[in-house]
Amino acid sequence: MDRHYDLVVLGGGAIGLSAALSAAETMNGHPVIPGHRILIIDQFEFGNDQSSSAGRTRQFRYQYSQPYMTELVMQSVPLWKDLSDRAGFSLISDSGSLWFGHADLTTTEGGIGAAKKTMSQLGIPSQDVSAQDLEQRFGFSGLPDDYAGFLQPNGGTIDLESTIDVLLRECHKHGIHMVSNERIDDIGEFGGHVVLTSATQRYVGASLVITTGPFINETLAPFGHRAPVKIWDMVSCYYPIQSSKAASLPTWFAFHQSPDGSPDLYYGFPPVDNGPPGHMRVCPDYPFAVYDDPRTRRTPSDDDFAGTTEWVRRHMPSLRPEPAYQSRCMLALSTTEQPLFMDLISRGPNVAVCAAGWCAKVAPELGRLSAQLALRGQTTTDITPFRLET
Ligand SMILES: Cc1cc2nc3c(=O)[nH]c(=O)nc-3n(C[C@H](O)[C@H](O)[C@H](O)COP(=O)(O)OP(=O)(O)OC[C@H]3O[C@@H](n4cnc5c(N)ncnc54)[C@H](O)[C@@H]3O)c2cc1C
Repeated sequence: MDRHYDLVVLGGGAIGLSAALSAAETMNGHPVIPGHRILIIDQFEFGNDQSSSAGRTRQFRYQYSQPYMTELVMQSVPLWKDLSDRAGFSLISDSGSLWFGHADLTTTEGGIGAAKKTMSQLGIPSQDVSAQDLEQRFGFSGLPDDYAGFLQPNGGTIDLESTIDVLLRECHKHGIHMVSNERIDDIGEFGGHVVLTSATQRYVGASLVITTGPFINETLAPFGHRAPVKIWDMVSCYYPIQSSKAASLPTWFAFHQSPDGSPDLYYGFPPVDNGPPGHMRVCPDYPFAVYDDPRTRRTPSDDDFAGTTEWVRRHMPSLRPEPAYQSRCMLALSTTEQPLFMDLISRGPNVAVCAAGWCAKVAPELGRLSAQLALRGQTTTDITPFRLET
């Protein structure tokens, strides 16, 4: 027998869970949808490590080349505070966010010069950091003499694992129907409703939010849409700390350049309570594999994190360059200038999609906007920069 809902959320990662929770609560004075009229469905366990919300930590930062992205981060702050209150502790540490390196390098994360401009345009505090500070205060070594940057004191580390836990708990509390380990193979429209079909069941929704992360194009296919993305598979490592300088680092991002002039980017986190004690996570900001189809995923080899270990060996004397633990994650990344995609893809039943980009930091806000879009056909924030070009 078909199961009917007011809202179906396809994909139970950070953004999908946020969308469902937001729909179960008051939306700018609009009526609440009772939790039992909302369904979240995922092909794996909730909190799985096979999609984009895998792993313990993410960087929270205001640095963006596009002021509208920084504004989205600012809009997310009260939602993070609310989630932190429910967790009973802060889900974002305030260690600060250090950006340094080659000032003119432009990357998928933006660049130092453009981000600095956004900071001053929006009145966001930042402190300049010199090459000398990078060595003496932050403990990096062997960097080119012209490297410099800035520290944004309100950035930090998102505890993504606990964020997912809180979102799941709150969704349960609202009585939201949650189905795991069931893959939706087809989506159709019938009689003004959306019909989602798995191997064993049909679900009917008046509205649908699609937040399927790296699987976005598989789920958009029945609508004849395609997001311009590539799927990055990434592996990062935890390295043993051998000097106290590492433990006091903020989150950091190095806009490093290879000898041939191409970007060679790394970033890292201070140690976290739920991470391996005495270790620091250092990550490459480049993939070890790129796919069109995330279901063709391969396992990384030691060679795939050799570049990260070499960065640690050359530039981070406070760490031992011996990778102890790995962490993997897959991400849909835009192949255009657009940082992420959010759009309404159907007019009858409202079908909203939200995917791609470095979006953990804005997940609560993107969830809220996606739910608004699916339920009301419009959002309280202008999403023009995120619309899918057809
Ligand atoms: C290595 C890495 C580092 C990152 N660093 C940062 C960072 O520092 N700061 C930051 O802000 N962001 C960062 N991000 C991005 C951030 O993690 C993602 O933007 C965010 O987690 C996306 O969440 P989501 O809910 O959209 O997708 P996901 O977490 O991928 O959830 C999608 C869900 O949909 C389910 N699904 C897909 N297809 C189907 C189907 N057919 N049927 C049922 N279920 C389906 C999947 O199983 C999955 O659980 C990083 C990402 C990676 C991979």
